[in-house]
Amino acid sequence: MHDTVRTGTALSIHSASRAIQSSASGYEVDVHQLLSQVIPTPMTSAPRMDPETAKMEIARRHREIMEILGLDLTDDSLSETPERVAKMYVDEIFHGLREESFPKITVVENKMSYDEMLVEVNITFNSTCEHHFLPILGKAHVAYICKGWVLGLSKFNRVVDFFARRPQVQERATVQIQQALSKILHTDDVAVVIDAMHCCVKTRGIGDDGCVTRTSKLSGAFQSNPSLRAEFYASVPGPDRLRVI
Ligand SMILES: [Zn+2]
Repeated sequence: MHDTVRTGTALSIHSASRAIQSSASGYEVDVHQLLSQVIPTPMTSAPRMDPETAKMEIARRHREIMEILGLDLTDDSLSETPERVAKMYVDEIFHGLREESFPKITVVENKMSYDEMLVEVNITFNSTCEHHFLPILGKAHVAYICKGWVLGLSKFNRVVDFFARRPQVQERATVQIQQALSKILHTDDVAVVIDAMHCCVKTRGIGDDGCVTRTSKLSGAFQSNPSLRAEFYASVPGPDRLRVI
């Protein structure tokens, strides 16, 4: 994954990774506290079903939807679809609704005196539009100015994936990721850009199959320092490359 990371030099990337792995001083992120500091996804206060009960209930209701559509649930091809959809909702595409799905993250003291921008681009962002329950497919690009703490590089991918695995609007996901990284890394100097295609725009309604949506949330020096902002955007691939036929 080093090829997706841009820092000052290739050498600095490798030396930083070694330092992260060998450092003993760090702390584990308190997930409950972290998520209480991030703008929420709208949720009721009703007690949450355990995952297995949730799958049974979703399957039962999805079966009803298919029956209303007139589908023959006794057909071999369709008979297990309700259970398949329920498992997909709970274990895969919406598992980010559960706090316990948040990645285990240990933040490590920055002992290598790295104090420049770190940018990670082309992080896969596969989410689901909460208005239509259709896929949002895209890439996230994140950056921060290293202060007292550093993070294993793959943790950026995991934080993006956690917030993507919810019913989402792209704007909220962008802010949630930016706020979470800012809290984890104890710095306001965090930038997040997401480029994505929305299947609800592409496959229905207006049926525009070529447009890409870009959202961004920059704070701290990324917001106040025009040259840093420009340097960050110069590192981020253009959204146009996401266009497909
Ligand atoms: Zn939609």
